[in-house]
Amino acid sequence: MVGWFAGFTRDVALHADELSALDGAIGDADHGTNLNRGCREALRTLHAEPPRTVGDFGRTVGMQLLAHVGGASGVLYGSFFLDFGASAPGAQGLTPRGFAAAWHAGVAAVVARGRAEVGDKTMLDVLAPVRDALDTAAWHTVDLGGMLKAALDAAEQGLEATVPLVARKGRASYIGPRSAGHQDPGARSSWLLVRAATTTLA
Ligand code: ADP
Ligand code: MG
Ligand code: MG
Repeated sequence: MVGWFAGFTRDVALHADELSALDGAIGDADHGTNLNRGCREALRTLHAEPPRTVGDFGRTVGMQLLAHVGGASGVLYGSFFLDFGASAPGAQGLTPRGFAAAWHAGVAAVVARGRAEVGDKTMLDVLAPVRDALDTAAWHTVDLGGMLKAALDAAEQGLEATVPLVARKGRASYIGPRSAGHQDPGARSSWLLVRAATTTLA
């Protein structure tokens, strides 16, 4: 789990400018900086106080992201990780089905906080299709690699699908139809989160 988050943090750092540039087109150009700052703090804390359970992991990451990302995405990713961990608080690791269930809980937290639906041009356009792909795969395979491959395919499709959409939630919704034609920055960072899972967990 820590390796997964370390991979995500590295990718966010590598792609911070690109995430902020996407946000610049339809928002306030801070998504990469926000997330980079929060992820670094979260990873620092994970290393300083190594989590012993999935619950510890989710609580540490969630609290640090809530405290240090700022912006809409800080609350949403923070809530995602808090509830991801709370789905299996005492577990020392996750089975493929456990990972799917944890992802489910994380997505439910994002929905509860942000009230977005698929098609609103947000991170949910990646997180929700990934949830569905994980659910389906978890019933057909016990192989985490195959499951995450299906999740990454769903993430890529969801990410691309945000391009033509008009934003209905978050800052990008303020510019209405002019938000069409741009990829959503939060959807792109969620795709990075899924991609980091395929390279570190499988
Ligand atoms: P802010 O918009 O406050 O500057 P960020 O730039 O860090 O915050 O994050 C913007 C991203 O947050 C958007 O690209 C979108 O994916 C996501 N987002 C914003 N509002 C919502 C919401 N209500 N539900 C889900 N995701 C949202
Ligand atoms: Mg922003
Ligand atoms: Mg902002």
